[in-house]
Amino acid sequence: MPIDQRYDPDNVFARILRGEIPSDRAYEDAEFVAFRDIQPAAPTHIVLVPRGEPPTSAASLRDVDAAWLGRMVVVASRIATAEGLDGDGYRLVVNCGDAAGQTVGHFHLHILGGRALGPVA
Ligand code: AMP
Repeated sequence: MPIDQRYDPDNVFARILRGEIPSDRAYEDAEFVAFRDIQPAAPTHIVLVPRGEPPTSAASLRDVDAAWLGRMVVVASRIATAEGLDGDGYRLVVNCGDAAGQTVGHFHLHILGGRALGPVA
């Protein structure tokens, strides 16, 4: 998806958050929901998304987003531990825009693990 597009309230993650599309949830709290990726790129592949209408991509983040972003990374770390990934290690990924292959315009973080992941790119 192009960087800085307007938030589409019917994007797939918004629909998952509203319960319109089923998801295999791994975690949820008042701020965030995590579910298993439908096309896993690793034995464990979880997508962590903020509730509501967050920025569409990393390119739209502003200073005001720092607090919830920090909490989101802490939540990702907790999920990785709960999934048993903290021993061997894991990867947290944020794709931004077309060059990174971002397909959903709702800021999100991938948690990947369960195998040796190799170089980043
Ligand atoms: P990105 O490429 O960073 O935008 O990541 C979007 C991710 O959402 C991809 O890895 C997709 O496989 C995943 N995805 C798309 N639709 C669904 C869905 N209905 N349930 C779970 N994951 C999905």
